[in-house]
Amino acid sequence: MFSYRHAFHAGNHADVLKHTILVQILEYLNQKDTPYWVIDTHAGAGLYALDGEWAGQSGEVSDGLDRLLGAPDAPEMVQHYLEAVQAFNPDGVANVYPGSPSLALQAMRLQDRLRLFELHPTEGQVLEDTLRKRMRASPRQVAVAREDGFQGLKRLLPPPSRRGLVLIDPSYEDKQDYRATLQAVRDGLQRFATGCFAVWYPLVQRVQAHEMVRSLERLPGNWLNASLTVHKPSADGLGLHGSGMFVVNPPWTLQAGLEASLPWLKNILAQDDQARFSLVHSGQMPTPDAVGHRPSMRQKRSPSRK
Ligand code: SAM
Repeated sequence: MFSYRHAFHAGNHADVLKHTILVQILEYLNQKDTPYWVIDTHAGAGLYALDGEWAGQSGEVSDGLDRLLGAPDAPEMVQHYLEAVQAFNPDGVANVYPGSPSLALQAMRLQDRLRLFELHPTEGQVLEDTLRKRMRASPRQVAVAREDGFQGLKRLLPPPSRRGLVLIDPSYEDKQDYRATLQAVRDGLQRFATGCFAVWYPLVQRVQAHEMVRSLERLPGNWLNASLTVHKPSADGLGLHGSGMFVVNPPWTLQAGLEASLPWLKNILAQDDQARFSLVHSGQMPTPDAVGHRPSMRQKRSPSRK
């Protein structure tokens, strides 16, 4: 099977972008009483130890979440993300990183439903344990399917209340994921035309990645595409130099939130002078720079970690 384990990457710059947007979408969904569903086709393990062996080994969180802690003037949307992470770290030290299922469940009301897919047997088991023991999720509200999220998504759409978010966040370890993601969005929109679909994608030197994003941008309807480059692409063509989130039917609040947040995130997460962001939406071009406020969680975890 595949070797990808999200624990190595938890809290990195890509998680920061993805989860900042996720938190904003959830806040928007919470503005109305009508129940909604969140379907996470690639859920991961749910919660990650930042002081654990894997995260410590990769050190990716140092160039992600860690840089935001205590940084001045965080825009409101980023502050809300930091508050969501802080809720999992009540002692004020960022030792635990919440993945998308945890962030979603934390934001959701009793009437809302969370449907998760995770194919990796170990990650699936950890996810179930985390939800049951740590998050005390009720089986009525949350269901985990240890199956292919691209396939499973089809039978869940549209959700009964016709309100919801589909998060598609593959590791793209398998090149077929690019095609499968595009197809999942196209099929998903046929079944649930008003649904919000959020696709995470890597900025890598791979033709399939570029083609997928260009094809997503050819989708009819309302969409928004935010990307953040943190360093120049490597000479050998390997590695992730940034990431993006493509959101179909975005909340109307998201564009303004990103206009304020992306420039700040770019400055904080930049690893060299090639760092940049772009924000494109259906029928429009990249936006100009802007800035905003300040996070409350200041402390990184203990200095013993790499
Ligand atoms: N969404 C998570 C988050 O934001 O915290 C991170 C998910 S991680 C990038 C991708 C996960 O998808 C991995 O745990 C991997 O095992 C799982 N996976 C890979 N292919 C899958 C598939 N076809 N269906 C469901 N899960 C899959």
